[in-house]
Amino acid sequence: MDAPAPLPDRLIAGLRAVVGERGIVTDAAEMAPHLVEMRGLYKGASPLLVRPGSTEEVAKVVKLCAEAGVPIVPQGGNTSLCGGSIPFEQGREIILSLSRMNKVREVDTLDYTITVEAGCILQNIQQAAADADRLFPLSLGAEGSCQIGGNIATNAGGINTLRYGNMRDLVLGVEVVLSDGRIWDGLRRLRKDNTGYDLKQLFIGGEGTLGIVTAAVLKLFPRPKEEVTAMCAVSSLPGVVDLLSRVRSGTGDQVSAFEYMARFCIDLAAKHIPGVRDPFEQRYEHYALMRAGAGRADSGLREIMEEVLATAMEEGLVLDAVLAESEQQVKDLWRIREAVVEGQIPEGGSIKHDVSVPVSRIAAFIEEAGKAVEKTIPGARPCPFGHIGDGNIHYNVTQPVGADKQAYLARWYELNEAVHDIVVAMGGSISAEHGIGRLKRGELAHYKSPVALDLMRRIKDAFDPNDIMNPGKVVPDAEH
Ligand code: FAD
Repeated sequence: MDAPAPLPDRLIAGLRAVVGERGIVTDAAEMAPHLVEMRGLYKGASPLLVRPGSTEEVAKVVKLCAEAGVPIVPQGGNTSLCGGSIPFEQGREIILSLSRMNKVREVDTLDYTITVEAGCILQNIQQAAADADRLFPLSLGAEGSCQIGGNIATNAGGINTLRYGNMRDLVLGVEVVLSDGRIWDGLRRLRKDNTGYDLKQLFIGGEGTLGIVTAAVLKLFPRPKEEVTAMCAVSSLPGVVDLLSRVRSGTGDQVSAFEYMARFCIDLAAKHIPGVRDPFEQRYEHYALMRAGAGRADSGLREIMEEVLATAMEEGLVLDAVLAESEQQVKDLWRIREAVVEGQIPEGGSIKHDVSVPVSRIAAFIEEAGKAVEKTIPGARPCPFGHIGDGNIHYNVTQPVGADKQAYLARWYELNEAVHDIVVAMGGSISAEHGIGRLKRGELAHYKSPVALDLMRRIKDAFDPNDIMNPGKVVPDAEH
């Protein structure tokens, strides 16, 4: 890795004047966690991390950097895992962390909105909504450390997308600092606004390549007063999709989460994570974990779920089922799902695919992907799980037993290609949640149509003509 490129003294002095001493970090130890991501796939370098305390400060920082031609990597909680939040190894970019901008500006219970700064931790926003007897439904494994600005920039999804949508559906307005330092105040709270292009959508999922999100207005919902969590062993993979359809219609679409786990996932979670146990006595191949919620405590939702699942059992679709009876049981069941990710780590290398296909194609996808994996790396062990209510499978593949971890991981792109070819042939997406970052930029160039790529490059040029906003991320170069 190269040593970070030195910044002009004038720029450092200017930045210091804007954000003050506490807003500038150059100490190597303090910067270290900002230069590497959790999986360790990317390790970057940077001369400086800047932490502005307000939108105006972000704007001044960007203006100074634009004048000096110094590129910027916006960083939230650094949990997105595809290299988007990490600077390149050459050390030319500064990191702009939003962590000091963590205020909830307003909760409006009549508008059902919450206005927040970009550096708010997701969990704190959920809590602020709950304190006002409202629900902010975005929920994901990293919610204790990811920031709403990062959630917006990656169009995060998570477990409740099935009912409430992803960030594209949950954001009503954004405030953004553009690449020349101007502030776009798009903090609207309107449900209807047909005044031309929906500009906010360009920044949602933009991964910091078009501007820096500094604040947002988010949608709130009534807080469910009764929730039912159930875990089912299901007779087959197509049966899991059938069950999803039945609980959706049976409950009048009150299902907020519907997660699939293959047997191998449960095995790893139970084997490696203390406190996790299979709730069933018998072993089954396919499991669904679901949650439904209603607005009233005495809504009858539990009885409805029991009825739907009982009918599915009579028909042989569901082989066994457990409905959580207590808060502890709810936690235990969801703990299994969370432990599926951690449980894979002690088994060695894991090659990931964060993909989506139409819900109706999930079973066919998992079957075909299994064959492709076996053909490409015999003995590699698929561990498919995920938010299949949204057609989103985390198709992780654990190394063969006894294989060399590094040699296995060296085949990452080869295996990705085999699996992604199937995804794309089924009309799916090679990135359902985590984004493109650096990790999938080459694949985006391969799989996106030339017309779509041309449009993306033009948008990037229009918003960031000098290429200082997270350069080298998401949008493939023209020569790709
Ligand atoms: P970062 O990783 O810091 O940044 C992500 C990208 O956004 C980068 O390109 C960065 O430059 C840019 N960015 C950050 N902040 C801003 C800003 N204010 N303005 C402009 N650009 C910005 N994701 C899901 O969608 N669903 C899940 O279920 C899910 N589960 C996860 C579970 C675990 C255990 C982990 C580790 C991750 C999971 N993720 C999931 C991925 C990750 O949490 C999300 O992508 C999250 O939205 C990233 O937020 P962040 O603040 O960490 O962003």
